[in-house]
Amino acid sequence: MQFTEQTMRPPQEAHSLLLRATQGCTYNDCHFCYVSRGYPFMAVTPQDLENEARAQASFFPPDTPIYLTGANPFSLPADTLKAYLAALRRACPHFSEVSMQSRIDDISHKTLQQLLELRQLGLAHLYIGTENGNDAALKRMNKGNTAAQAVEQLHRLDEAGIAYTTFYVLGLGGKGMGKACGQDTAKLFNQVHPRRVTSTGMTIFPGTPVARMVEEGLYVQASEREKIEELLIFLEHLTVDTLYDGIHYLNPLNYRLAINNAEEKRKVLEDIQDILRSYSDADLELMVNRRQMLSLWSLVHKTSAQR
Ligand code: SF4
Repeated sequence: MQFTEQTMRPPQEAHSLLLRATQGCTYNDCHFCYVSRGYPFMAVTPQDLENEARAQASFFPPDTPIYLTGANPFSLPADTLKAYLAALRRACPHFSEVSMQSRIDDISHKTLQQLLELRQLGLAHLYIGTENGNDAALKRMNKGNTAAQAVEQLHRLDEAGIAYTTFYVLGLGGKGMGKACGQDTAKLFNQVHPRRVTSTGMTIFPGTPVARMVEEGLYVQASEREKIEELLIFLEHLTVDTLYDGIHYLNPLNYRLAINNAEEKRKVLEDIQDILRSYSDADLELMVNRRQMLSLWSLVHKTSAQR
């Protein structure tokens, strides 16, 4: 099977055994999406997965975590995922956990019994494309689910004992929506139990539907100041016992902190307030330099396509 999409992983999986599971996205319709657009959805066979795991296993500790790459491998039928997990157990009998990415509706398509069985077979953690807690922002970006549906499905993961990291896109709602998005996203995550919350900053990648919306005047980007203000409001309102991990090249500012560590949180909030006070709008645009982020992305993308 010829996969053509470049493999990607969350920064947190840098030391995991990375195995290709799928390419493309079964939904492929979020307006801001720049990752899997145009790639047909494909999945490896359990035998291919086992062969690849055997080939790589000796380079990793026996209890290595495994990350199955792809935009939403969890969309696969439960029986396929069970066959994957059994193949991984044969190739790497002592792996510590298996993680992969999922959409909210990928969870809703599985029964509680199936979720429990997958957990028992080693699926311990999912990365979930929650993106935002504001329904207007989700709808505008055609995410395909509401905040309430996200809460419902994340509760089902809690019930099955499957941990999860939630994604958050700062600035998703566009100009003027930062305050509402920060508050609503904190409200969403406070109702569930994320192991970790990770974020990126809204960036308009060429060729995406949101890039056309910008050209047509249907979407105005939030400034970097507004994204930073949104981060401040979000962290002020986030009270669930979790780790906020904002170390990603698309974030306007990079912080990692335990939310229930009051002293750590106080220092980060003060730091953000200080940055907002000390720099002009123009300084912040220059410091974040989203144009450079886009150049970096296209350079990496081009280099990898040439390999
Ligand atoms: S679910 Fe994820 S990969 Fe699929 S279109 Fe949306 S953002 Fe892109």
